[in-house]
Amino acid sequence: MAEENHRVALTYDASDEYRPEPPPAPEIPAWKDGSIRIGIHTSIAGDIAQALDMAAGLGANALQIFSSSPRMWDRGTSRVSEADAERFRTRRKELALGPLVIHSNYLINLASPNPVLRARSVQAFHQEIVRALALGADYLVLHPGSALGADRASAIAAVVQGLKQAARGLKLGDLRILIENTAGQGSCLGSNFGELKEIIDGCPELPLGVCIDTAHLFASGFDIRTEAGLEATLQEIERTIGLDRVAVVHMNDSKTALGSRVDRHEHIGKGKIGIDAFRRILSHPLLAHCAFILETPIDKPGDDKRNVAALWRLTGRVVRATGTGMKPRPKKKAATGRAGAARRPKRSRGK
Ligand SMILES: [Zn+2]
Ligand SMILES: [Zn+2]
Repeated sequence: MAEENHRVALTYDASDEYRPEPPPAPEIPAWKDGSIRIGIHTSIAGDIAQALDMAAGLGANALQIFSSSPRMWDRGTSRVSEADAERFRTRRKELALGPLVIHSNYLINLASPNPVLRARSVQAFHQEIVRALALGADYLVLHPGSALGADRASAIAAVVQGLKQAARGLKLGDLRILIENTAGQGSCLGSNFGELKEIIDGCPELPLGVCIDTAHLFASGFDIRTEAGLEATLQEIERTIGLDRVAVVHMNDSKTALGSRVDRHEHIGKGKIGIDAFRRILSHPLLAHCAFILETPIDKPGDDKRNVAALWRLTGRVVRATGTGMKPRPKKKAATGRAGAARRPKRSRGK
């Protein structure tokens, strides 16, 4: 009996056929309009979403932030709540800011030969990726790390392993991890592009790219002051990692001399690199796909605005800041300074 009923029901009606909805076309964010992107590292002190309004108020159309305190270990307290993340993503869309670059914590050292520090670094970088995904970041910048006592080859192998461990179990989607070139201070990896290439080649399954910092280039011996020097540098990048891997350029003039291997950022045009070099970098066709992000000091109020305006001026545009800008950053303690006082944790009043 059941079989008979079955047969009756077997009329084919084409309209019954299951047709999956075509997948929605990926939404192209407003900032990906091909226009030049100039940003600045903006403070998240107070409220993370305020960093967006701060950047926009300074005349930037892109930004970089830390997603938690950059000089403290993540003790599991630095998760971004979904409500904050949602508010942040919405406000960013409204302001059409992009790309959003997150700079990782300075303490992370995936190359560390110390197993405790290395494990802590992997865990902290894992949390960096989690927060970057929550905030909808485009790029997460990481310093390759410091070999300390280890030899270069095992330090690079440790970075490769560390990156894989940190990313394990996470869907990175459109997020790209950018390894930054360094000034080559001490035993820091990444002051030459061969080392960055080794890291990238070691992780073919990860979406890795590179962030180049002009001050680090200069301090590590790339003479980008002249047209010929810039060309030679770009050729070296192309020959090793490939310029298409470079997504962000940190735009910092340098307080220190060519090849000094000491990293000290200076205002655009006020340092040893000079204004003409920045004009050439901003207009170079081989860097046209990059975002340009300032990490210049704030010695006095308005320095942030002036540096953003300086970059826009070099592109031939006048962009006026409407916001008040960031407060001057406290100077790094001098070697002979009151280190104890500087290290004492800040306590907010009444809490
Ligand atoms: Zn950096
Ligand atoms: Zn630097």
